[in-house]
Amino acid sequence: MGGGGEIVGSKATLEKNCPWNGSPCKRCDVGRVVRTSQQPHSFGEKFLSCPNPKCRGFQWMKDALKESIEQQTQRTT
Ligand SMILES: [Zn+2]
Repeated sequence: MGGGGEIVGSKATLEKNCPWNGSPCKRCDVGRVVRTSQQPHSFGEKFLSCPNPKCRGFQWMKDALKESIEQQTQRTT
């Protein structure tokens, strides 16, 4: 089992007032929660975490924002 790179568990705080809270996971469609990293190498960085234990999807907020902007620009013709 190889690990590494994943930021899950206790070293994060839950963001309750973020509009991204509950945004659907791309892999399993479960609403994700927004958390803020408390780890020294990424302190304060927000990320989306999938609560589904079979999926455990993870995405940085900045990547999710970038994707949503790209989708919006594609939609406008
Ligand atoms: Zn998921």
